[in-house]
Amino acid sequence: MNQSRRRLLLLATSALSLAIPGARQAHAQGSADVIVVGAGIAGLAAARSLVDQGLKVIVVEARDRIGGRIWTNRAWPKLALDLGASWIHGVSGNPVAALARSGRISTVTTDYDALWRYEAGAKELSDSADEALDERFEGLIEDVEDEAAALRQTGNADVSLQSAFDRAAGQKLSATDRRRLNYMLVSQVEHEYAADAAELSLLHWDQGEEFTGDDRLFPAGYDQIAQLLAKNLDVRLEHTVSRIAYGQRGVEVTSSRGTFSAAYALVTLPLGVLKRGSVSFDPPLPTRKQQAIRRLGMGTLNKLYLRFPRAFWPEEPHLLGYIAEQRGAWAEWLNIQRYLKTPVLLGFNAGSYARQLEQRSDEAIVASAMEALRAMFGARIPEPEATLMTRWSSDPLAGGSYSFLATGATPADYDVLAAPVANRLFFAGEATSRDYAATVHGALISGRDAAELILEE
Ligand SMILES: Cc1cc2nc3c(=O)[nH]c(=O)nc-3n(C[C@H](O)[C@H](O)[C@H](O)COP(=O)(O)OP(=O)(O)OC[C@H]3O[C@@H](n4cnc5c(N)ncnc54)[C@H](O)[C@@H]3O)c2cc1C
Repeated sequence: MNQSRRRLLLLATSALSLAIPGARQAHAQGSADVIVVGAGIAGLAAARSLVDQGLKVIVVEARDRIGGRIWTNRAWPKLALDLGASWIHGVSGNPVAALARSGRISTVTTDYDALWRYEAGAKELSDSADEALDERFEGLIEDVEDEAAALRQTGNADVSLQSAFDRAAGQKLSATDRRRLNYMLVSQVEHEYAADAAELSLLHWDQGEEFTGDDRLFPAGYDQIAQLLAKNLDVRLEHTVSRIAYGQRGVEVTSSRGTFSAAYALVTLPLGVLKRGSVSFDPPLPTRKQQAIRRLGMGTLNKLYLRFPRAFWPEEPHLLGYIAEQRGAWAEWLNIQRYLKTPVLLGFNAGSYARQLEQRSDEAIVASAMEALRAMFGARIPEPEATLMTRWSSDPLAGGSYSFLATGATPADYDVLAAPVANRLFFAGEATSRDYAATVHGALISGRDAAELILEE
C-alpha cells in the first residue's frame, strides 16, 4: 500500500464512529490503519508485516504480556520454562526456525526414540514388549485409517476415532493389553491433538501438513520468538477487548481502557475465546462462521513442572512414558535434566483427564503426579521442592490449548474461520490455519497471510 492510500485510510478512520451502526461515542483511545486484537504469535507476525509496509498498527492485548499461548516462565533461578508451546515442529522450511536463526536463538533437538516406558511397580518395559507395543499400535492405526477410507467412500456420517480404534482392537483384550493400548492412544494421539480419541473426527483427525526435520526446543525460552517480532510495535497491554463493531467505512474496537478506530481489524482471538462469546461482534459474525466456531474443537494440553533436590530418574532418555492404570494419567514426561542439567521433570496431560484435573487444587494435582512417579520409580523418591502448572482450559483468554477437528467438523471449517467479513474484519490464529492448525508456525503463517490480504485492500 502506498503512502497516499495510507493517508486516505487515516482520514477515513477519523470519522468512523459515525459510520458504524450502533457505535457509541466512546472516548477514542487511538486510531490506526489496522487494529490487531491479540498479541500472540499470529497478531505479532501480522503487525510486524503491516508495520514493515508502512501502516499504522495498534495491537490490543488483554494480558500483561505478549506471546499468548507462547509463555515462558522465569520464576526459577537460571531456568526458562515454557508453559505454552515448547517445540518447533519440523525445522525444514518452518518459518519459526527461520526466525530463530535470524535472531540467533538457540534450539535443541528432541529425540523421540529416546523414550523409556514404565509400568506400575517400577518396571521398565522390556525392549521386546516395547517393540511389540509399537508394532501392534501401528497396525491398529492402519486399520483405523482403512475404516476412515471406507467411510469416506460410503459418505456416511462421521464417527469418533475411539469407536474405530475399539473396533480394530476387538473386545477380547486382557487388562494389560487394554492398559498398554490406552497408553499408546493417549501418548501418541491425545497428547498431540489435546483431545480424547472419543472427541476426534475419524474422517479428519490427522488431516493437515507437517514440516519435515527435527523437532526443536528453546532452552532459553520460546518467548524470544515473540520478543523478536514485537520489536518497536505499538502494543497496548492489559486492554481487554469486549466488542468489535464494523461498518462500511471501518471498525471500532472497544477495550477495558478505551476505544480504538481503524479501517480494518485483524482478529486473532483464540477459538476458545470465540466459543465463549466474551467478545461481541456488531453486527454478529455470519452464521457460517458461528457454525464453524461451534463445530471445531478446542483441546486441552496441560503441563506440570516439578523441581527435585536430585534426579532419581535416568539421565539418558529424552522422554519417559507411564502406562497408568487410570486412562490418561501422566502418560508422558519430558526429561528437562537432559536439556538444562537441572533436576526438573515436565509432566503432560490432555483431553478430559486434563480438564478434570485442572479443576483440582495445586496440592491435589502434584499428589496425583507424585503417585505416578512413585509407581514408575519406587516409593522412596524425594518430594518436589518447587512446582509450576498450567490450567489452559480455565484460562478465559485462551479457553483451551489449541484447536482440533471434532467429530462432525471438517477441514473447511478452518477456512471459514479464516475468511474476512465485509472486507473490514480479518482473521488469523492457529484455528484459522487449515494446513497447520494447533501450532506456532500455523498461527505465524496465518498472521502473515492476513496481513497480505489487508495490504491488497
Ligand atoms: C500447553 C501448550 C503446548 C503447546 N505446544 C506447542 C508446541 O510444542 N509447538 C507448537 O507449534 N505449538 C504448540 N502449542 C500451540 C501454540 O502455542 C499455539 O497454536 C499458538 O501459540 C497460538 O497463537 P495465536 O496467536 O493463534 O493465539 P494466542 O497465542 O492465544 O494469541 C491470542 C491473544 O489474544 C489475547 N486475547 C484473548 N482474549 C482477548 C480479549 N478479549 N482482548 C484482547 N486480547 C485477548 C490472548 O491473551 C492472546 O495473547 C501449544 C499450546 C499449548 C497451550
